[in-house]
Amino acid sequence: MFLTNFEFPRLIVILNDESSRIKIQKKILSLSTPDYHSYLKPKIKHFVHRKPEYMSILVVGSVAYDGIETPFGKVDRILGGSATYISLTASYFQKPMNLVGVVGNDFSDEDIQRFKDKEIDIDGLQIDESGKTFFWKGRYHFDLNNRDTLDTQLNVFEHFNPVIPEKYRNSKIICLGNIAPALQGKVLDQVNNPDLVILDTMNFWIEGDREELMRTLNRVDVLIINDSEARELSGEPNLVKASDKIRNMGPKILIIKKGEHGALLFTNSSIFSAPAYPIIDIFDPTGAGDTFLGGFAGWLGRSGDLSDDNFRRAVIYGSAMASFCVEKFGPERLFDLTPTEIADRYTEFRALSAIPLQSDKSF
Ligand code: AMP
Repeated sequence: MFLTNFEFPRLIVILNDESSRIKIQKKILSLSTPDYHSYLKPKIKHFVHRKPEYMSILVVGSVAYDGIETPFGKVDRILGGSATYISLTASYFQKPMNLVGVVGNDFSDEDIQRFKDKEIDIDGLQIDESGKTFFWKGRYHFDLNNRDTLDTQLNVFEHFNPVIPEKYRNSKIICLGNIAPALQGKVLDQVNNPDLVILDTMNFWIEGDREELMRTLNRVDVLIINDSEARELSGEPNLVKASDKIRNMGPKILIIKKGEHGALLFTNSSIFSAPAYPIIDIFDPTGAGDTFLGGFAGWLGRSGDLSDDNFRRAVIYGSAMASFCVEKFGPERLFDLTPTEIADRYTEFRALSAIPLQSDKSF
């Protein structure tokens, strides 16, 4: 049996049912390698004999430079953009990641290298020498739940025409970051029968390009939006009723992010409520939503499993990755994570909402 650095902590996560978690973790720590194999073998038979069926992932969205102000500090220019956060995050789950976007003549070689270091395939990243990279600047309020956009310079993004390289066209999971719905549709025109299409959008498109958004929504499987966007899109204040309306627009799976209050997953058969992580060191929420998407898609791609149960796990991986993202400015935290940190945080998330069984089931 061979376990990679990533799979070992992940194995602990998989074995992490409420009754045996502590016992197994203690046992693993105390075992020598041969014992470890024999002790775990019966428990992991299913896991080790099942080759991970990776589903390749394509990410399309903005690649940007951001200026960010929060109550805790300020950066004038830092790598950003929806596709940046999604691909960096998903790269922890699966390599290589396929990225399509556009940058301008000011995009630095160091930032190109940062993608390469994470084994993100950037053959689909267009470099448009005619102008500068998309720039966005935002300032967060004291509670960090609200932000004001101070500046948006589209630059080369204004004429972005997503061209999907031939080698990406059979990608199994398509992540459509927050860009114009018509461009998201253009991406879907170029890919061959993906297994899952995930879409992110925002109020700007819900208000300003509703018709096109409706056309694109009809072609996607999973929509990820926040609670105010869900209310606006459906015209329904109650989120459960809103989910029915939105799921009738096309996506059969809906995830509603509720910022620091967790997330809701609606599928055909159930509703799942993911907890929020009580983070102590929150510096900058920029990119948390995209990071959520990256963790969600990354886990699905890595596990190759599109069952309802696995969507729940994916929501927890998304939440766990987003909780890391906010610990530093911009995407910085997404460069130095370890597999063990990810597995541990996933475990913490599970523990946050584990309800102990009671032997006496009466009320
Ligand atoms: P989030 O905090 O998840 O909403 O994502 C923040 C990222 O979205 C930043 O890095 C911005 O560069 C990017 N962004 C902001 N406005 C837009 C826009 N209109 N289109 C595409 N990306 C944007």
